[in-house]
Amino acid sequence: MKSPQARRHAAQVVEILAATYPDAECALVHENPLQLLIATILSAQCTDARVNMVTPGLFAKYPTAKALADAPQEDLEKEIQSTGFFRSKAKNIRACCRDLVDKHGGEVPRDLDSLVQLAGVGRKTANVVLGTAFGIASGVVVDTHVARLSKRMGLTRATQPEKIEQDLMALLPESEWVNFSHRMIHHGRRICTARKPLCGQCPLNDVCPKIGVQYGALDDEPAGKPIKPTARRKAAKTAGASEGSGAKARSPGKKAGKAAVKTNSRPAKKATGRGRSASRGIR
Ligand code: SF4
Repeated sequence: MKSPQARRHAAQVVEILAATYPDAECALVHENPLQLLIATILSAQCTDARVNMVTPGLFAKYPTAKALADAPQEDLEKEIQSTGFFRSKAKNIRACCRDLVDKHGGEVPRDLDSLVQLAGVGRKTANVVLGTAFGIASGVVVDTHVARLSKRMGLTRATQPEKIEQDLMALLPESEWVNFSHRMIHHGRRICTARKPLCGQCPLNDVCPKIGVQYGALDDEPAGKPIKPTARRKAAKTAGASEGSGAKARSPGKKAGKAAVKTNSRPAKKATGRGRSASRGIR
């Protein structure tokens, strides 16, 4: 059970992300649920951009679940080689599609239990397919970006994706589950990157406790002083990581901007001064 303060903090994050990335959507190019399912399997340990380079040729050659199920292993491996782990991915895709043909008439099922029983399909992939292809909020997609950002924002202390998802599901209204993931992934790619979070440009700067962030992001536009361990613990408690309370900004950023970020925009470039504040939007 999450505290009211923790829920308020989560609501602030949701609101700011929604204002910043109103049109965020899945970056995997697809035309139907089957294509999204296969693209999501391919995206394991691979960038969406790389997957998007591979899938047009793959789906032109093997347009249906039956075609993919019947594809020779070696041929399929060649088609998807550049996505990495191609042998196991090809094996999973063939087995998954065989199940689709044998048990679901070649269609992608619309329920979590059926999806997670398919080869190569875990809860994350099932959530992606249900949320994006069918608009069904079965859970919160927790990929590497969502996991990292959730911890930094004080929304969870968990490290395992399943537990992070449980924390997020308890904090967020169900209506936000699908879009929240898309927005977090966009934010993780553009601003709150793994190695160098751009706190100084971040619209969440005022509300984010920055758990585990050592330094302000930009060399010439620091988010503020590095958080001292005691301050960090206090911020984590305040932000309500699992059971804390509402977050209070500790860094000197401006209030979160309402300006929207185009979801297909390029990653924000390094600012040349302090002028690029969140209140002026992120480009
Ligand atoms: S303030 Fe920094 S740590 Fe927090 S979400 Fe923004 S970039 Fe990430």
